[in-house]
Amino acid sequence: MNRPDQVSAAAASNRAKAFAYLERLTAGPLGHFIDGEATAGEGGQQFDVFDPTTGAVLGQAIAGTQKDIDVAARAAERAFPEWSGTSGPERRELLHAIAAAIESRAEEIAFVESLDTGQPLRFMSKAALRGAENFRFYADRAPDARNGLSIPTETHINYTIRQPIGPVGVITPWNTPFMLSTWKIAPALAAGCTVVHKPAEWSPYSARLLVEIAHEAGLPPGVFNLVNGLGEEAGRALTEHRAIRAVAFVGESKTGSAIMRQGSETLKRVHFELGGKNPVIVFDDADLDRALDAVIFMIYSLNGQRCTSSSRLLVDARIHDEFVARVAERVGRLKVGDPLDPETEVGPLIHSRHLEKVLDYMRIASGEGATISCGGARHGSGGYFIEPTLFSGAAQAMRIAKEEIFGPVLTVIPFHNEADAIAKANAVDYGLAGYLWTSDSGRAHRVAQALEAGMVWVNSENVRHLATPFGGMKASGIGRDGGDYSFDFYMETKNIAVALGDHRIPRLGA
Ligand code: NAD
Repeated sequence: MNRPDQVSAAAASNRAKAFAYLERLTAGPLGHFIDGEATAGEGGQQFDVFDPTTGAVLGQAIAGTQKDIDVAARAAERAFPEWSGTSGPERRELLHAIAAAIESRAEEIAFVESLDTGQPLRFMSKAALRGAENFRFYADRAPDARNGLSIPTETHINYTIRQPIGPVGVITPWNTPFMLSTWKIAPALAAGCTVVHKPAEWSPYSARLLVEIAHEAGLPPGVFNLVNGLGEEAGRALTEHRAIRAVAFVGESKTGSAIMRQGSETLKRVHFELGGKNPVIVFDDADLDRALDAVIFMIYSLNGQRCTSSSRLLVDARIHDEFVARVAERVGRLKVGDPLDPETEVGPLIHSRHLEKVLDYMRIASGEGATISCGGARHGSGGYFIEPTLFSGAAQAMRIAKEEIFGPVLTVIPFHNEADAIAKANAVDYGLAGYLWTSDSGRAHRVAQALEAGMVWVNSENVRHLATPFGGMKASGIGRDGGDYSFDFYMETKNIAVALGDHRIPRLGA
């Protein structure tokens, strides 16, 4: 492992470039963007944003207040009639223009994102382009978003149409903020909704890029507004605002519960994409070379800060020792370092508080009697780096096998047969994703159907096709994103029944 303080020439030059992009983005403290304009709003308190690689302060952002949220929600409310009345083809053209602008600034987005989040550049450059793909995908669906069903009876023609629900709130986390926010905002705009976005306070910069790009591409003022700030203040105010009809939230399960409570008074429609403790099950008949690549990729990419990471390796007891030795060898060779170094595979965690949380699990693992086969400690002294870690000798009842750690930390648990694998896989509160590796096709289908997870990949890492449903069961979420599923959330389905003739009407008081 290279040490984070040994900065390569490529990393140093990329870092200088990233800082130049950041300076271009905001000269002073990062404010909001409301009704088509950058604004400091009420000029609430400022909070520091940290560079995860060094722990130094990157800059300040302005904490949006209840008043700022109100101004943004009112702007979204005013813009709604015109935007929802814009024709589908016009919305399609505009969303394609936003996608093109994202593509043309993909390097800038990737560099700012990598600097702000600590996510390795090798992944962030793809995430920026994925953001553009999300816009293109929903651009093409905008003209047909309102289509419904024809449900005729003998007496009536029933038909359904979908209409945009109104202004919506989008609240996003810090792990891959740009890509995740496009995933919500693109379908909302395609549906004809207007948006108020509250990005995560630990990584606010790329959200500003997105809103600026959208306006430069021609999006009318008020259609897409951004308010920075803290979850408890700005986030809460957004979920409680009367003008906001629905909240799309990505983040922790316990925040989802809070948002449900906060939104109950105004009967908010909610869509939650929450935490995970996803299993990857490796049977002894699997292609073990490919399984090994996928196991490593799905927990150590994106610094393990990935909702769909396979953070539990359930491995057939018959191949356990050999397979785990191969995993350990690969973990020991992961390249930890500056996220702006193109060679880096694992960067720092997002924040000192998150580092503390992840380090706590090292103590918990030892206390529970698991073995720390790799890593287990802080890496270097500056920044929030942690050694890629492997816990072996774990049991499913341990906290390290049940709780979301959200770092480059893998817990290995042996299983003894198919039923045991399924029982262990399902013995968690979460149910986001599952991965399984076997060459027995019957078993692949049996196990996939038995897993309590919203998404299952068989003999594959997470390969996302945008038309497919994305979301989780149990404590991992409510609702699905992707394809037409997103429109079901951002739109109301209306049934219209028209009598075909003189059907009999019950006569009262006649
Ligand atoms: P978090 O829940 O702490 O914060 C997410 C967002 O919610 C932030 O913008 C925050 O300011 C805001 N927030 C906090 N309290 C709020 C409140 N009371 N009212 C309104 N908003 C509030 O999550 P995080 O730590 O930023 O992100 C990590 C979590 O996100 C992990 O659990 C991860 O699994 C999850 N995640 C899930 C998916 C998915 O698709 N299922 C994707 C990415 C991340």
